[in-house]
Amino acid sequence: MIMTSHVSSMKNNGNLKIHRAGWIIIDAHTIIDNGYIEVENGKINGVYKGRPKQKYFDHGPGVLMPPLVNAHLHLELSALKNMVPFNKKFRSWVQSLLEKRSALKEIDLIAAARKEARTLVQQGNLYIADISTLGIGQAILNGININGILFNEYLGSDTSLLFTQKTDTLSTSLAGHAPHSTSPSLLQWLKKESYAAQLPFSIHVAESDDETQFINDKKGSWADFLASRRIDFSSWDIGNKTPVAYIHKLGILGPSTLAVHMLNVSDKDIQIIANTKTKVCLCPRSNFNLHDKLPDIDALLKHSIAPALGTDSLASCDTLNILDEMEFIKKRYPNISDETLFCMGTLNGAKALGLDHLTGTLSQGKKAHFIYRSTNATNKKHLIERIVTNE
Ligand SMILES: [Zn+2]
Repeated sequence: MIMTSHVSSMKNNGNLKIHRAGWIIIDAHTIIDNGYIEVENGKINGVYKGRPKQKYFDHGPGVLMPPLVNAHLHLELSALKNMVPFNKKFRSWVQSLLEKRSALKEIDLIAAARKEARTLVQQGNLYIADISTLGIGQAILNGININGILFNEYLGSDTSLLFTQKTDTLSTSLAGHAPHSTSPSLLQWLKKESYAAQLPFSIHVAESDDETQFINDKKGSWADFLASRRIDFSSWDIGNKTPVAYIHKLGILGPSTLAVHMLNVSDKDIQIIANTKTKVCLCPRSNFNLHDKLPDIDALLKHSIAPALGTDSLASCDTLNILDEMEFIKKRYPNISDETLFCMGTLNGAKALGLDHLTGTLSQGKKAHFIYRSTNATNKKHLIERIVTNE
């Protein structure tokens, strides 16, 4: 049994610090047994084999590895854990989620979310992409030592409170909810603003059958749902398209766009994502719970797309830990190698959020953010396998 027993997050202090462990995973393909990491001013100076000559902190016989990256979650829905049934149609799930959420007080949403954010850090998920629709994201993450991107998400055609901020720790960017719930002009505006701030833009895309039908013919239960929420879609230029082809036509795909889900996609859609170098984040457990379907990861990999992983919210998934997502994928996708899966939970997430110059591997010059897990692995292959199976 492997357990996360220590998380290291060095602060800038100007001193040289040495961290030793039985194993060090620099990246999925570069592993050192019996080595140490030299850290200066909060950055990695280098990783070396053997015993250090200087004074060092010995983490133990386990492994020091890059932090986990949860590239898509909604902390503000944490209070809804076990409150929204998964086994209904997607639209019923959305309806139930909105009702239950509005019955909760903001203070309770924030308290439940802060508890989950602290758990994420303890589990080694030191980087996140948190989606906030209620404008409480900052209140949730205030004072919590976590990194990544807080995405303020927009639905309909509301443009109030547009705000971006780029930092080396937790940046604030913008997200469009989805092709079927956010107006085309607002999606374009959000993309433009986040691009100008050199920050990623996030959007749920190709998740549900309702979405696919609505984008294709402007009809169906989603059209009724929008009408009931008084969202006027009469001017939206949809019809005869897949969700991916539609947002491609809007010009919002590209290397700094993160397409989340990619569940209902054609080969042509995958080709569009590959050609535009759009980043992809997958949430297979949430997809399985809500839609009884899994993304075609093998097809994405075949097109040289390097998917990141997210959990979505606790309203559609049991935990926010990326190790649990990796374990789930390991069981259901026998063709995916352990090394590829390890990259999905670490480096691919860093790339998806435009943070791979700071984290994703334990390479020289990156932030001294790493996690320690105990292990009884006897060789490198075994080591990676034990991590992705969450043992
Ligand atoms: Zn989501």
